[in-house]
Amino acid sequence: MSADLKIVFATNDNALADRLISRMESWYPHVSVCKLDDPAAAEAEVAACWYPPEDLLQRCPNLKLLQAISAGVDHIGDALLASGVPICRVVDEGQKHGMLEYVLWGMLHYQRDFDLALANQANKVWKLHPQRRPGRMRVGVMGLGQLGGYIAEGLVSFGYSVSGWSRTDRHFDQVSCYAGEAEMTEFLANCDAIINLLPLTPATDGILNASLFERLPQGAVVMNCGRGEHLNEADLIAALASGHLRGAILDVFPKEPLAQDNPLWTTPGVVITPHMASSASGKAILGQLVDNGRHVLEGLPLMNLVDSEQGY
Ligand code: NAP
Repeated sequence: MSADLKIVFATNDNALADRLISRMESWYPHVSVCKLDDPAAAEAEVAACWYPPEDLLQRCPNLKLLQAISAGVDHIGDALLASGVPICRVVDEGQKHGMLEYVLWGMLHYQRDFDLALANQANKVWKLHPQRRPGRMRVGVMGLGQLGGYIAEGLVSFGYSVSGWSRTDRHFDQVSCYAGEAEMTEFLANCDAIINLLPLTPATDGILNASLFERLPQGAVVMNCGRGEHLNEADLIAALASGHLRGAILDVFPKEPLAQDNPLWTTPGVVITPHMASSASGKAILGQLVDNGRHVLEGLPLMNLVDSEQGY
């Protein structure tokens, strides 16, 4: 049987490549799949990417599409982003909903004072806090794209008072929208909680830092669901120690797993989760890979194309 599409899995994670290739072979028997070290890679038309090597295009000169197997594309690297080969990413409705579940858990944790109850339990203290309604909690979503936009709308439907911040002007019902540097301070001043769902780009690298924390109201909380590099860890630890911030939920880290000796593990007020906020399904990842691969060969429009100049 001759293949109608040739895909190479370009990743630094051999076990991940093996898993996805085995599913591809059973779900898409007409598609030829290989790993980078296979001689067939030189003929590949599409690369399924997760931390691909910088010299990918030299090793696979026939590539017409780089398809990230994730929502973010920061792992593609600057050289490939600038190469001119189209880059697409995964957008999955199930992943959006999973992210909303994770964020709701985080917001409830603070809105209903579970953080205080858990801290009191550790000291056998019985103390009731007055119940805060969701409308009394001002939640700001940083990044109003596929995930952030969905989360902002979901939080509104749950009754929170929601605002959002993006690079360009966005509009969502019942969400106060702010855009760009010029409106950032006003956005932050009105957030009891911020949820970071920005992509990692040169413009957003290190954005969760002392200057941002200072502009949040006293007692605000921070949730980082974007990328670890968004956060200046030392600045967060200082803002928690000073009492300016009440707490932080962190799902992503520059190096994962988080090192055993990282002080965040034991910083009071920090909750750590192992990059589990939400993942795309195998069906969405491989379906979009094959569909976009066929589209690029047939000259049809690509789904979820990345703006390589903006880096997301
Ligand atoms: P997206 O659709 O590309 O949306 C990105 C949003 O960020 C857009 O609203 C964009 O503004 C805004 N933005 C980009 N650069 C900005 C800047 N310099 N200043 C202000 N706003 C800026 O991305 P997505 O699909 O929602 O995903 C967002 C990120 O979530 C991914 O890149 C990934 O890192 C992370 N993620 C994490 C997990 C996890 O499990 N923790 C899972 C999936 C994804 P405009 O609307 O104006 O373009």
